[in-house]
Amino acid sequence: MKVLLAKKAGFCMGVRRAVETTLETVQQTDQKISTFGPLIHNPQVLSLLKDRGVEVLDEVPGHLSGVVIIRAHGVPPDQKAGLRKAGAEVKDATCPRVVKVQAIIKRHRRDDCFTVIIGDKNHAEVIGLMGYAEPDVAVVSGVDDIDDLDIKGPYIIVSQTTQDDDSFNELSALITSRFANGKVFNTICDSTHKRQHEVRILCEQVEAMVVVGGKTSANTKRLAEIAENKGLPVFLVESEADLDTATLQGFASVGVTAGASTPAWMINRIMRTLEAIPARGEGGLCRLCHKAAWALLASNTYVSVGGGCLALAFAKILSNQVLWQTFVIAFGYLFAMHNINRFTGEHSRRFNDPLLEKFADTFGLGLLSLSYLMLAGVGVLLLMGGIAPFMLFLAMALLGIFYSIPIFPDTIARIFKIKRLKEIPGSKTFLVALAWAMATVVLPNWGSGAGTLLSLLGFVLLFVYVRNALFDVFDVQGDRIVGKETLPVCIGEEKTLYFLTYLLYALLVAGIVLPWTVLLPRAMIFFLPGVAYLLYITKQYQAGRLSPSPKLDFQLETSLYLVALSLMLGSYLFA
Ligand code: SF4
Repeated sequence: MKVLLAKKAGFCMGVRRAVETTLETVQQTDQKISTFGPLIHNPQVLSLLKDRGVEVLDEVPGHLSGVVIIRAHGVPPDQKAGLRKAGAEVKDATCPRVVKVQAIIKRHRRDDCFTVIIGDKNHAEVIGLMGYAEPDVAVVSGVDDIDDLDIKGPYIIVSQTTQDDDSFNELSALITSRFANGKVFNTICDSTHKRQHEVRILCEQVEAMVVVGGKTSANTKRLAEIAENKGLPVFLVESEADLDTATLQGFASVGVTAGASTPAWMINRIMRTLEAIPARGEGGLCRLCHKAAWALLASNTYVSVGGGCLALAFAKILSNQVLWQTFVIAFGYLFAMHNINRFTGEHSRRFNDPLLEKFADTFGLGLLSLSYLMLAGVGVLLLMGGIAPFMLFLAMALLGIFYSIPIFPDTIARIFKIKRLKEIPGSKTFLVALAWAMATVVLPNWGSGAGTLLSLLGFVLLFVYVRNALFDVFDVQGDRIVGKETLPVCIGEEKTLYFLTYLLYALLVAGIVLPWTVLLPRAMIFFLPGVAYLLYITKQYQAGRLSPSPKLDFQLETSLYLVALSLMLGSYLFA
């Protein structure tokens, strides 16, 4: 089915900051960690934090040890002081935009101004704001509350940051028309404005809306109300299990948006489930094609065939021959390593893709057995070609095994907090790229000139590194939750995307210059369309025009085919 995702769906800046602060604290300290009140309004995130040992405090205790994190909504100042007094180390993750509203109230409180907060009386943010204004404060949630107002002197009006624009404008106009000396501060946060505006636009393009978020989240409910007011059928869901697939099959297109506390991995799960639902009027053949493409992706067949084709193209460039062994070595090795990695490694993907999780449960064992068989077959094939490539293959396999077991001595483990190779930040992305370069360039072409092999290896390594790191960007929130130290987890999504863009520009320049030197064969100029394609995907993702989905995975893997095909063409032209 056609699924359109709102660009601003999911974690807003404040919520992301609070979750990241908490997860970083989990990684940095062995002390007890608690949040003061639920960190955000999302049950899935809260349960994952609980699994990682984060407790929730409901009131300020007399004595407290460890670290307490103040949530994005903020707390009244006396509670913050109380937590410190109780002995806890307090980390304040109050959203800077909420801090700004608190500052406006504090400043006007000094001038004896009364404060009117337009918002939900029971919302944590409003309770926190009231703490800065007490005792001269009133909360207005609807027109009825205005009748109870008793304002004698100067006053200010502020809003809860997730209020609806229309209702804030209406209520503040009514209050200022009734009481003189009022100053209005529209403190609705920018992210809320944009999110609500986007939903209104998205409603014009689809037949139904799916709103993802906690059932107690006020801003999620508001998004659903906006879509309902636009006359669309709305499905408010917390997870993919709540999706009414039978009813959704009746629509040709569906829009998806999510509240400010909905994690990206939950949106991914919803997107992937919706995309697998056949749309109204979708033909049987089309459905079959979708299923086949997805099975090729999930079983790592598509990516491994791409690697095999790449190896064929390099063999043609280096020896002017198309050898089936070349394809088999690269395909077999990549198929085996990807599946072994996927079905025995960490399960961060389960946060991002429920279908893959199901696929792994059904076919994981079969694919794993096939992978070990293939690995043995590749070993035999390499042994037939000579002892040196076989030894290299063995070394690569050993590296794979040692990757997950503790190998560093205690002193290094104590100083750097690293026991295994996999604990070196970003190591997996690099090592997988290295294995790719070995499997597609070095192993199948053993015996070709060392200099050329090395330059080709460098090219493939960087290209595949970018591909791997892009997948890490798509999976960043799931990885962060399982504590995987990928590049985007360590330096952030935005910086990773910039870094990858510069890497691709460097590859473009090298791809233009080096083929005219002795370092690279001329045909390597045909590597460039693949690099340009990857650059295009990176830029589109950076601009928010692409979001993680099986379609994007497919597009990304297709870059390998593009490179292989154009290199093959180049090898004939420069033969
Ligand atoms: S909605 Fe706005 S104010 Fe509220 S936490 Fe998110 S970014 Fe901060």
